[in-house]
Amino acid sequence: MIKLKGIAASAGIAIGKAYCVGKEEFNIAKRKISYDEITVEIYKLEEALIETRKELTNLQKKISEELGFSHAKIFDAHLLVLEDRVLIEDIIQQIKNKRVNVEYAFNQSIKKYTDTLFKLNDDYLKERIVDIEDVARRVLRKLLKQDITSLKDLKEKVIIVAHDLVPSQTASLPKENILGIVTDVGGRTSHTAIIAKALGIPAVVGLEVATQHIKSGDKIIVDGLEGLVLAGRIEKVLNEYQEKLQVYAKEIKIIFIPKTLKTVTLDKKEVVASANIELPEELSLAQEYGAEGIGLYRTEYIFLGRKDLPTEDEQYKAYLNVAKKIKPYSVIVRTIDIGGDKFLSQPQVPTEMSPFLGWRAIRFCLARPDIFKIQLRAILRAASEGNIKIMFPMISGLEELREAKKILEECKKELKKENKDFNEDISVGTMIEVPSAALIADALAKESDFFSIGTNDLIQYSLAVDRANEKVAYLYEPAHPAVLRLIKNVIDIAHENNIWVGMCGEMAGEPLFAFLLLGLGLDEFSMPPPRIPKIKQLIRSVTFEEAKKISELVVKFSTAKEVERFLQEQLQRILKDNFQTLILG
Ligand code: PEP
Ligand code: MG
Repeated sequence: MIKLKGIAASAGIAIGKAYCVGKEEFNIAKRKISYDEITVEIYKLEEALIETRKELTNLQKKISEELGFSHAKIFDAHLLVLEDRVLIEDIIQQIKNKRVNVEYAFNQSIKKYTDTLFKLNDDYLKERIVDIEDVARRVLRKLLKQDITSLKDLKEKVIIVAHDLVPSQTASLPKENILGIVTDVGGRTSHTAIIAKALGIPAVVGLEVATQHIKSGDKIIVDGLEGLVLAGRIEKVLNEYQEKLQVYAKEIKIIFIPKTLKTVTLDKKEVVASANIELPEELSLAQEYGAEGIGLYRTEYIFLGRKDLPTEDEQYKAYLNVAKKIKPYSVIVRTIDIGGDKFLSQPQVPTEMSPFLGWRAIRFCLARPDIFKIQLRAILRAASEGNIKIMFPMISGLEELREAKKILEECKKELKKENKDFNEDISVGTMIEVPSAALIADALAKESDFFSIGTNDLIQYSLAVDRANEKVAYLYEPAHPAVLRLIKNVIDIAHENNIWVGMCGEMAGEPLFAFLLLGLGLDEFSMPPPRIPKIKQLIRSVTFEEAKKISELVVKFSTAKEVERFLQEQLQRILKDNFQTLILG
């Protein structure tokens, strides 16, 4: 049996057939063709080359308009591959002489081509292999009539195994057919982990070598509680895991508390438990689990997995739909946070050395007011009919907040001129997810209606730990005293300035930390929908007074381990028999 240890990204157990995504996305079978089929196969090749050429020149044109001619030139090399007579002739010869189907011939010729370049040991030529493989994938997609988002078409229940999943793939996962997710890369707050948790799909990430050991069709076990994946001869442990799966399902039910129950402590301190959503299907999950609003609507997912940008009307409808469904509660629409580990196909953004420190979120939006304004106008219009608030991600200084608000005011003026309905008094919040913002919270509070602490980023930036890199995941510690002190500072300053403060980072949905945050005075806890019942129940089982006393103590501790150990001991004492289900389960 093969036992792989990774990072437990989303709780639960899954047992089922693996479906490998990525390099094996193309299922290229070898088929003998008849003499009559030769011309058909050559015709298919010509068609695919013409189509791919069209696709690339369109892409080149768009990039040239949006980013300039020099960026568009990178596609020259791609286009040259499509015109390479030696390569095309080789494919045709294989079809004619070996009588094989076009997909197979194409794939073989490309392999020969890249192998030869690799052996020449020339750095320039080696770099060209990447271009060739990219073009080859585009042509194969045409030949196999396969779309990039082919995961949508899964017909049976499977466990997805991938080196990594790009956001456009996770955004199109057919939830009903995904039993579990397993990836080589990623950390607890990488986008794959966030989506898996939101959809309640067991997941283990950061396994490093899962794709080397698992093939499509293998029966595997995903233990999202312990961060384990078992493959190979799993028969011996199958019964044990089937039992574990049932116990877990039962526990989940016990915590399913009535939706109408408020998030209130035993000594009557009321807070809000709301949901983070990315995809439309999470909205009904949020309602089912008793969300008291949407504390984070990650709007970038509307932009992902498509070739064009969503229009103002399309966005308006999407925001209004969420607001109407979540009524009487409110929804906080976050303006697009692209960059980091989430990229759009349009506009294509040049690759950066450190994308999490680069052209991301509000930085991208301020540089592209054309895209930003369409979104702001859509939010403002939807807010005239629904209870919508707006929030800006990755603010690092006051000027950025001011600039974003200035553009928001311009949008209001335009809408007024056009006689369109919109909400003049929309609440504007600032995400506190960069340490500099946490340290100047006093200045930001004076110009914000609320704060939402984004710990996924705040932790990575404070501790200098890439949130998506499994190699440094052990350093990603929410309870690090530096992080706790920043959070405490933000909450205290928000309250001194009479604004409320929420948290939409994953930390708010982790029971041990939720207790600590309650004690620090956090007003709103926004989390993946399946976490809500547990957090509500926890808060309903403790007193604010005690949480406050304990939190004030632990922020003075020196290490994350000490903080966690102390919190565990205290909660064990307070919760007694419920400790296992509420904290560990
Ligand atoms: C965060 O950084 O905590 C956050 C909620 O935003 P995202 O995970 O989308 O970066
Ligand atoms: Mg963030």
